[in-house]
Parts: sequence; C-alpha cells; structure tokens
Amino acid sequence: MCGIVGYIGKKKAIDILLNSLKRLEYRGYDSSGIAIYCEDEKKLDIIKKSGKIKDLVQEIERRNPSSSHIGIAHTRWATHGEPNDINAHPHFDCNKKIALVHNGIIENYRTIKSFLLERGHKFKSDTDTEVIVHLIEEFYKGDILESVKKSLKMIEGTYGILVLSSYEPNTIIAARKGSPLIIGKAEDQMIAASDASAIVSLTNQILYMQDGDIARLTKDDVEIFNLETDRITDKEFEQIDITLSQIEKGGYNHFMEKEIFEQPEALQNTFRGRVDIVNGTFRLNGIKDKFRDLLNAERIIITACGTSWHASLIGKYLIEKFTQIPVEVDYASEFRYRNPIITPKTVVILVSQSGETADTLAALRESKNKGATTIGICNVVGSTIARETDCGIYTHVGPEIGVASTKAFTAQVLVFFMLSVALGRKKMLTFEDGINLIKNVEIIPDKINEILNDKDRISKIDKIVEKIYNKTNFLYLGRGINYPVALEGALKLKEISYIHAEGYPAAEMKHGPIALIDENMPALFISLKDSIYEKIINNIKEIKARKGYVIAIANKGDREIEKIVDDVIHIPDTIEELSPLLAVIPLQLIAYKTAVKKGLDVDMPRNLAKSVTVE
Ligand code: GLU
Repeated sequence: MCGIVGYIGKKKAIDILLNSLKRLEYRGYDSSGIAIYCEDEKKLDIIKKSGKIKDLVQEIERRNPSSSHIGIAHTRWATHGEPNDINAHPHFDCNKKIALVHNGIIENYRTIKSFLLERGHKFKSDTDTEVIVHLIEEFYKGDILESVKKSLKMIEGTYGILVLSSYEPNTIIAARKGSPLIIGKAEDQMIAASDASAIVSLTNQILYMQDGDIARLTKDDVEIFNLETDRITDKEFEQIDITLSQIEKGGYNHFMEKEIFEQPEALQNTFRGRVDIVNGTFRLNGIKDKFRDLLNAERIIITACGTSWHASLIGKYLIEKFTQIPVEVDYASEFRYRNPIITPKTVVILVSQSGETADTLAALRESKNKGATTIGICNVVGSTIARETDCGIYTHVGPEIGVASTKAFTAQVLVFFMLSVALGRKKMLTFEDGINLIKNVEIIPDKINEILNDKDRISKIDKIVEKIYNKTNFLYLGRGINYPVALEGALKLKEISYIHAEGYPAAEMKHGPIALIDENMPALFISLKDSIYEKIINNIKEIKARKGYVIAIANKGDREIEKIVDDVIHIPDTIEELSPLLAVIPLQLIAYKTAVKKGLDVDMPRNLAKSVTVE
C-alpha cells in the first residue's frame, strides 16, 4: 500500500507534494514525510512524522524549510518496522545525498542489509526500504540512474520508488515492479505518483509505467528504460477523465457517506451504454474477444479479496443460475499458493476495485502462466490488473476513496449481473427473460434512492444504531444470494466500527453459532420474500426463542415480520437476483452511522488502507 508522489517544476514543491499526499492518504496513513532539494543550501532536507498528514503539515510549519521546486513524498502503511518517526519515509543514505520513498516489500532485505553493513553502511530504521537507498549509495559512480538500475537488479520483491539526489538536483528517478506508478506532465512540470488522484489537480496527461520500467524525470522530459533490456521504451501520455470534484467530498462528512449516496448515479454509469434492448441482453464490448471462451468454459474461477470476494460469491450464484457453468470463488491469496486446477477451458475472472491488489495480481499472473483466459473486473481504468488481463469489464463508478468499499461493491455485483445475463441469453434465457431482467435492473438506481432518501427509514436506522453501537459482537445472517450480503454487512461493521461481526448462512446457526446468542448479541437477518423466505423465518424464530435482539431487512409490504422481530428496515421489492443491490444499502448505513456514533475515523480506519498493494 502507501502512496508516493514526486514533483519537479515551476511551482513550490512542498505545496504540490502536500496536496497530493492528502489525496493519497487513503492508501496508508500511519506516518508521512517529504524530501526536498533546498536550492539555497544546495542540500536535501527530509521532514517526516508519525501520524496523519496533518501532523506532517504541522511539523513542516514548525521547521519552515527553504524553498524548493523538486521533492518526493510518502504516506505509509507499515509492513516492516513500527509506524514511528524514524521508520517513516523518505529514507536517506549515509551521506544524506540520496533520498528515497518506496511502496512495496523488499523480500531479500536481510541479505542486502548484511552485505551493506559489512561495507560500513549505517542504518537508522527498521524498514526493509532503507536497504535500497544504501545500495544506491554503494553503487553510485557519478550517474544516479545507473546506480538505481544496478541496485534494483539485486532486489527481490515489489516496489514503486522515487529517488531524489543532491548529485543531480534536477532529476527524479522513478521505478516500478509490482506497485503502481504513473507519471503526469504539465507545462514545465512533471509529477509521478501512485495513482491519478494525486495528479489530476495538476494535469490529466498521464503515462502508466509498466513493471520493469525505470524513468528519469526532469521538469520537461521523461525517459523510460526497461530494467532488463536497458532499452528505452516508448512513452505514451494519454488523457484521463477524472475530475477534481470526483475525488472531493462534495458536502458530505466523509468519503464513505458520499460514496454510499452516490450509488444510484454510480450504478447508472455502470450499465449506461451496455443495455441492448433490441436483443434483450447486455453489450459488454470489453470482453467481446473472449466471450466465446466464457460461453464454452468448462469452469469459471472467480478470484478476489475482501469486499470484491463477497461480490464474486454473488457472481457465482448469478452465473450458475443463468448459464449452468460451474463457478468457483477463491480468495486470491489462497489461490496462488495452491496448485489450482486450470485447464485450457478454464476462465479466470479477477475482481479488484483498484486493479492493483497484490494478491489478485499474483493470482492473475499464475492463471496466465497456466494458460487460462483471464478477465478483469476493475474500477480503476488503466490499472495493472485491467491491463494485464486478456480483457475486462470496468465498473465505471469513479474514484472510490473511503477505505470501506461501498459503490465499488454494488457496481461489481451489477457487472456480474450483466455478465450472467449476457451469457445466459446464449444459453437458457429467452428474449422475454432478458427484457424482464433489463427492466428490473434499470429501476434499481431509483430504488436505492428511495432507501437513501426516506427520512423515516433513516431515523429507524439511527435508532438501531443507538441500540448496537456499544455492543461488542454482531451477527449478520442471510441465505442464498443474500448470504454474501450478510458477509459484506459484517465486514463493513468490523472495518470501520471495530465491532466484532460475523456473517453466516442463516441455516448454519444451529450447527454452532446459536450457542453465542443472548440478549447482548444483536442479529440482523436479510429476510426478503424470496424462494427461501419461510425457511429464514424459522431461523429468526430460533434466535428469538433464545432472547436475541433481532433486526430484519424485509420487503416493503411485509408487515408479518414486524410481529416476530424487534426492528425492521423495509426495502423496495425487486427480483431475487437483484436483491443484494438493495439489501446491502441499510447494512452500509448501519456500519457508517455506528462508526460516526463511536467517533471513529470512518475514511481511515485503523490498520487498514484502501488499495492493498502488498501481499
Ligand atoms: N515496506 C515499506 C515499509 O514498511 C513500505 C510500505 C508501504 O508500501 O507503505 O516502510
């Protein structure tokens, strides 16, 4: 994880770096720092601080460094070494001539460290990162680019790095392997950062660095080399269309709140232009070249992590229902360390909001290596997974900044819905089925709006939050297509309100978890009028008989359930296949409001970061 940024140009480097760091803060926020080249003193200065960016800002104000037009900066999500001032990046070499920021993990850092200690280098931090800057110092013979190249050849692991040196104070060296890095150019200015959100206030001319690329940036030029071949590689800047307002809070208190409320519009963007009413299906141009492979697949494996894994479970349900193709869902982190069975007729679908999730990326590379057709479902356009898969479907919901994913989840579910209908129409779904499914999905955004904008419903959720915010445990229960929604509700609550929560298939209760039920354990049931409604009512009764506090998510007209449970949140009716898109909304609100009630940092929950670019 972590965010890095570097700037050279006509503006004050500190202002640009801090502004960009704030936009990258969602990627990591346990400490941060900057290194600048001070033009008057002709030397590098590093200012770094544990805590959030606002703590760094205070430290910079206190130190009042001299002016500079070139610098690098970092916001950290610690992997090696506790999050304190010393372990914060940037790191210096022994002579304070070279400064470096790093995103990733250096796997062979111990071996390199012993080598460097023998050569007399003095280390200050406990990080894996610090070895890189000492290696560069060790190899420096008058050309900083060459010494970085030589160092990187010794390194095993993942990195996105930026290097600033007082030997060449008009140059920043950038390199990537396994961690994202992009370059933006504006007139007399060059910026490099982990993602576009840190760049768009300056420019939307962007170049995506590839794994194995190393670049030399000056204020008006960039040269890119391939580390293996040492050849200059082609550089193509492209225009991206993220606007600043898309990454600002726009009147909401938190990004998570904004993103929950954005869902109706976001989902419209997901299916816009993809409805094919003439043929009663969805048109997914991104995968048209591999559509046959999907249709003829013996097996589909969906692999993902966290919230995307929950969306994938819903994907399995939908694809199997509409196509009868067997689908497996695997955690990306497990998939790559097994020996997964992949035949030429296996299609692997990789799901990642950021398109940079390290485990999912590794699963992708393993699948390709074994000859599978690979399809990405990503939100970030041009991300590594999006580029390395054979083809893919973008969710198109705009930047998601809140660490707890909301709109990306519903969009992933929607993409799976469209994909399964498109495949199903070539198999068992009739034209009428297709039209009916399209009609139902088109009114989903309005139904989400109805949930979000009904004052009575929101005040009901507030009352529920009053009852649960000081609990220490919580159960979410669902069945069928809404079992993954129960998992997602539990994950949301855990992530941002730090209440231990578990999602369970409701009928599994009696095989163990029911032993936990007492008046201190709230249980939320997703109990919609679907094919298993009656069964879930029985499960609710089992809990009520043991004096548990029960909340139900139920259909609008369901008055009967009010007699059985303690609190009901009604949601509009829809078909079973689309019900997760509505059922999850109150669960997102419960988690959000509980965290706010507890006074927690919703957008930056402890120990987490948005885009998990380390294993
Ligand atoms: N491994 C490095 C550290 O722990 C970098 C972590 C990151 O990507 O933020 O400092």
